Amino acid sequence: MKVPLLDLKPQLESLHGEILEAVTRVVESTRYIMGPEIENLEKEIAEYCGTADAVGVSSGTDALLLSLMALDIGPGDLVLTTDFSFFATAGVISRLNATPVFLDIDPENWNLDPVQLEQKLESMSSDDRKRVKAIIVVHLYGQSAEMKPLLDCAEKYGIPVIEDAAQAIGAECRINGSPRKVGSMGTFGCFSFFPSKNLGGIGDGGIITVQDPELASVLRLKRVHGGEKKYYHRVIGGNFRLDPIQAAVIRVKLPHLNSWHRKRRENALYYNQLFEKAGLAPKVLTPPELHDSELNFPHIYNQYVIRAEQRDELREFLLESECATEVYYPVPFHLQECFSDLDCDAGSLKHSEHAANTVLALPIFPELTREMQDYLVDQIRLFYQNQ
Ligand SMILES: *Cc1c(COP(=O)(O)O)cnc(C)c1O
Repeated sequence: MKVPLLDLKPQLESLHGEILEAVTRVVESTRYIMGPEIENLEKEIAEYCGTADAVGVSSGTDALLLSLMALDIGPGDLVLTTDFSFFATAGVISRLNATPVFLDIDPENWNLDPVQLEQKLESMSSDDRKRVKAIIVVHLYGQSAEMKPLLDCAEKYGIPVIEDAAQAIGAECRINGSPRKVGSMGTFGCFSFFPSKNLGGIGDGGIITVQDPELASVLRLKRVHGGEKKYYHRVIGGNFRLDPIQAAVIRVKLPHLNSWHRKRRENALYYNQLFEKAGLAPKVLTPPELHDSELNFPHIYNQYVIRAEQRDELREFLLESECATEVYYPVPFHLQECFSDLDCDAGSLKHSEHAANTVLALPIFPELTREMQDYLVDQIRLFYQNQ
C-alpha cells in the first residue's frame, strides 16, 4: 500500500465544478486586480475568525511582512519570536533589517513558552526592552499557543502581538473562559492559503485579520505601494495584493472548512487509538492537545506530529514501505546558517533543538483512509520490533 503525505485530488474532485465556475467567473469578469472577490472573501474570513476586518494579501509570508511594515518595524528594532517554526516567521523580521530574538518552546506542545517570553523581557536592559517592537506568536501545526499568559506579558510591556496563524485557521483557545479563534487575539492574525494548509488555494495567497480600523487602513495602504491617491506616495509599501482567482477559489472552499477540520480530528483520534493499542510509548509519543475538548476546534491538525526515537531511521524505514512522512522542521532558527551572526550557540535553546531531532509528521489529510492509517502504524510497530 502507498500512503501519501498529502493528496489534494479527492478534495478537488468533490468541488471540481464549483472551482472551475469560480475561476471562470473571474476570467470572464476581466477584473483581474482586486475587486469583489477580494472584498467578499475579506468579509467572510473576518466573520469566520471573529474579527472586525481582514485584508487579503499575496501569501502568508507577505501577511507577516506587511503586518511588521504596518507597525513601522525597521533597523534597530527587535522582534521576539519562537525558535521553532517555518522559516517565514523569522525571515520577514530580517528582511526589514530588524533583529529577531529567538525564544525556546514549551517541550510539550512546541509553541512559544510564555515563561521564556516573560524571562527574556525581564532580563533585558530597559534600553533593549524599548527596542522590542513586536512579538510573533506561532500556532504551530494547527494548535493555538497558550495565548492568555503570552498576551498578559505583551500587554504588561506594551508590545503588539502578531499571530502567525498560517497553520491554524479556525483553531480555538480560551481567554477568561470564552472561546477565541486564532487571529482574533493579537494586533494582527496572519493566514496562508498555500495549498497544503487546511484552507488552501490553487496557488499562493494569504490574509491578515485585524480588529483596529486604523491599522486595517494602514495594511490596505501599504498593500498597494503606500499610494492612497494613484501615483502619490505618502509612505512606502509594496505589491501585496491577493489574486482574485485565489480569492474566488477560497470562497468555494470556506463553507467546507469545518467539516475538513472534523475529519482531520477523527483521523488524529484514530491514530491515537492505534498507537495506544500498539503500545509504543515512550518510543513514540502522540501529539498532545493543549486546549480543552469542549471547544469545537482545540486543534485543527494541519499536521499530526509524533515524537519518535530514532526518528531518521524510522523515516527511512517508512519510505521503503511507501509511507511518506515529513520533518517540520529539521533545523531550529538559531542554528540556521543565515542567522549565524546572531551568535546563538548550539545548546542554548534546548527544547527547540530536541524537537528538531524528534518530530515526525504523519499523513493527516481529511480523505486519508483507515486502511492507510492501519498500515502506517503497523509499519511503525514493525520498525521498533526489529530494533
Ligand atoms: C505556511 C507558513 C507560512 C507562510 O505562508 P506562505 O503562504 O507559504 O507564504 C508562514 N508561517 C507558517 C508557520 C507557515 O506554516
